[in-house]
Amino acid sequence: MKVVIIGAGFAGLKLAQSLDNKAGFDVLLIDKFNFHQFQPLFYQVATGGLDASNISFPLRKAFHKSKNVRIRLTKVTGVVPAENKITTEVGDIEYDQLVIATGADTNFFGNEKLVEFAFPMKSTIEALQLRHRLIENFENVVVSDSEEERQKLMTVVIVGGGPTGVELGGAIAEMKKYTLPRDYPEIDFSQMKIFLLEGTGATLGPMSKKSQEQSQKYLEKLGVNVILNTVLKDYDGETVILSNGETIKTATVIWAAGIKGNVPEGIDPSLVVRGNRIKVDRYNKILGMENIYALGDVAYMETPNYPKGHPQVANVAINQAKNLANNLRRIEMKSKADMLEEFEYHDKGSMATVGRNLAVVDIPKPNLHFGGFFAWLIWMFLHLVLILGVKNKLQVFINWIYNYITHDQSLRLIFKVFYRPRTQQKEIQYIKT
Ligand SMILES: Cc1cc2nc3c(=O)[nH]c(=O)nc-3n(C[C@H](O)[C@H](O)[C@H](O)COP(=O)(O)OP(=O)(O)OC[C@H]3O[C@@H](n4cnc5c(N)ncnc54)[C@H](O)[C@@H]3O)c2cc1C
Repeated sequence: MKVVIIGAGFAGLKLAQSLDNKAGFDVLLIDKFNFHQFQPLFYQVATGGLDASNISFPLRKAFHKSKNVRIRLTKVTGVVPAENKITTEVGDIEYDQLVIATGADTNFFGNEKLVEFAFPMKSTIEALQLRHRLIENFENVVVSDSEEERQKLMTVVIVGGGPTGVELGGAIAEMKKYTLPRDYPEIDFSQMKIFLLEGTGATLGPMSKKSQEQSQKYLEKLGVNVILNTVLKDYDGETVILSNGETIKTATVIWAAGIKGNVPEGIDPSLVVRGNRIKVDRYNKILGMENIYALGDVAYMETPNYPKGHPQVANVAINQAKNLANNLRRIEMKSKADMLEEFEYHDKGSMATVGRNLAVVDIPKPNLHFGGFFAWLIWMFLHLVLILGVKNKLQVFINWIYNYITHDQSLRLIFKVFYRPRTQQKEIQYIKT
């Protein structure tokens, strides 16, 4: 059976690993990047805490010992279900079973100005672009003789109070406190302002009330201005206009306020629901399709426990992939083809960190909540376990220890190749080397 998997994120990679060296399977794993990205730590790349290579794992290396998994570095441009083939930038590829695990991208909700001026963080490259902007701002502060310009450069607005916004807010506040004053002794960092905008009444919306309150308290303690029940109405590259009519002058808006599924061309639009996700049944099969599945962030599955679909988190993606691998093996065995198992998600908990020593953790069964240092240790341990590859785990661990002791990671490098007008940046991402 030839299984073609589009996307080597948490779902696609886990599926390929689960079918690795399994008799009867010929697997082709396709991604537009030649590495797997560990998205939960993008914010540490953006704030100079980790090197990009620490959280990126080469796909070909993951399958060195594989006899049946092959990799293609290309962007998939469409699906042609009637011909059992996909179209890609390197030609058409046929499949017996197709798995769409393309994840999600930033949703700017159609605001072209945000596309141009705001910084998203949905890929390693975007995390690096943000890092360059944050650092170059201070290089410009040093040489600017306009007070207004300096204030604009020293103001960061983060939009979205979910885990990404909260973790970024905490990390940027720590840069302000520890790292930046040593790099730029001529700058008065009491003038640096960090705003976190959240449209609802709490940060970390999906988490417990205790976690919401604690995360806000931690952020405020670190000097982040948390503004609730307020959304960004507009941004022209210089001035943010808030829904309450107030304005903030800033050179840096970070957009962590929404995602939309990456649905390839050729999927029936009537199957694409809220959040640009593809409707699947309990076996992750796209409704009405015989041999096309969707997994992870791009899939929308209703179950008795999750009647409005699953949360778009790594654990759902990984577990859906494991379940699909088992079902594909049953289909391949034929005698067990009518013994397929439905997917259900068992939430083991959620967590977010807010700078060093501070985190919040919720565990649903039994109903437990941790905050502070202990929660931070749990957060670190679980992230280390999840990162792919022994070398990456070691590098991240050593970096964390070094950072913890010195407050100084020496990763504040500006690679000019990334510093182009944002309209050109998408092209750079897809350049093949
Ligand atoms: C900043 C950030 C922090 C996060 N923190 C957490 C966290 O702490 N805990 C948690 O559980 N979850 C977290 N998440 C969410 C988690 O990363 C996602 O739920 C998870 O990555 C979804 O896995 P996936 O396999 O569906 O998609 P992804 O992991 O996004 O993988 C999709 C893959 O498809 C590839 N692709 C897309 N389109 C194409 C195409 N046309 N052609 C070829 N390849 C393509 C992409 O390059 C990518 O490799 C975070 C996400 C972000 C952005």
